[in-house]
Amino acid sequence: MQRVDTTIIGGGPAGLFAAFYAGLRGMSVRIVDSLPDLGGQLTALYPEKYIYDMPGFPAVLAKDLVTQMVKQGLQFSPDLVLGETAAHLHRDDDGYSIETDQGNSLPTRTVIISAGAGAFSPTKLGIEGESEWEGRGLAYGVRNPAEYQGKQVLVIGGGDSAFDWAIALHDHGAQVTLVHRRDVFRAHEETVRSFHARGIQMRLWESVVGIGGDDCVRSATLENNQTKTRELVTTDAVIVNIGFKSSLGPIKTWGVEIEKNQVKVDHLYQTNLPGVFAVGDVCTFDGKIKLIATGVGEAATAVCVAKQLIDPSARLFPGHSSDMDLPVNA
Ligand SMILES: Cc1cc2nc3c(=O)[nH]c(=O)nc-3n(C[C@H](O)[C@H](O)[C@H](O)COP(=O)(O)OP(=O)(O)OC[C@H]3O[C@@H](n4cnc5c(N)ncnc54)[C@H](O)[C@@H]3O)c2cc1C
Repeated sequence: MQRVDTTIIGGGPAGLFAAFYAGLRGMSVRIVDSLPDLGGQLTALYPEKYIYDMPGFPAVLAKDLVTQMVKQGLQFSPDLVLGETAAHLHRDDDGYSIETDQGNSLPTRTVIISAGAGAFSPTKLGIEGESEWEGRGLAYGVRNPAEYQGKQVLVIGGGDSAFDWAIALHDHGAQVTLVHRRDVFRAHEETVRSFHARGIQMRLWESVVGIGGDDCVRSATLENNQTKTRELVTTDAVIVNIGFKSSLGPIKTWGVEIEKNQVKVDHLYQTNLPGVFAVGDVCTFDGKIKLIATGVGEAATAVCVAKQLIDPSARLFPGHSSDMDLPVNA
């Protein structure tokens, strides 16, 4: 593999914008992502949700934002290594070499870690035989709400994801019941109001303690947490939204300073390793806010600092893109 100016670990929003900005600055770029698709959390966790806090978009579906960010991020044709996890980081004479879990060695002058929450996995119900139902009616997210049209669906959880999916599935013609183990919610008030306005059913103080069926889910056993009474309810699907566990995994072994499961950076998004930066959800500093809007700003700064490291004669601030002669590719 050819040595590139910068290798971006993670193709979520921060990584995609870093790829664009590095291309804008004339740098050669490689993006590595363990997922087969770009877009990070937006693609993996909430493609059908609206995002309301992107500049210029009063409301944009996550999957539509990803389409535009991918178009922009790939504008300067970065090298893509998808479906491979960056496993090891080795120092060499001209920067670093990243070794993937599939044994590929990727030489690079600088590294921008934009690994988000790292390799994330959903929190499971923790019931016996749970894994047997996965993909047969039990799911930890929804890829395509239209698939649930006309079906009975239990959505488990009390946060934004659970409420959003309950609303989206209801709007796609599913018969939805939201099941939550308490009577307080982590979801935004407006989302809860919108849920109630649709008359979607809700069962409180209950948890799923069993799933039944044949080749696919046909029923679930709900237990009341207060009275311990159980009820068997018929359902075609159980969609669990009770959070995600995340792990930085291999990145923790790279020698970058870790604080509360995140990579510590200075005001230029530099880690303690020379030429290794961290941006987006994965990084931490005093005042860090985990938003797409902040992550992409961090990415632009990190790229400019990396550019100067490689070429000390380059200016930190390249000027405005509106002064540049780029192809209009909207
Ligand atoms: C349900 C939900 C709703 C949200 N809504 C909003 C919202 O309305 N507005 C907002 O601003 N933010 C929202 N967020 C947060 C937003 O999605 C994150 O801030 C954003 O995705 C962070 O982008 P990122 O590029 O830093 O990381 P991510 O999007 O997490 O992308 C990181 C990528 O790195 C990859 N990766 C990790 N480790 C490795 C490795 N070792 N090797 C290779 N690849 C690796 C992962 O596979 C992933 O694709 C929401 C989050 C969730 C879960």
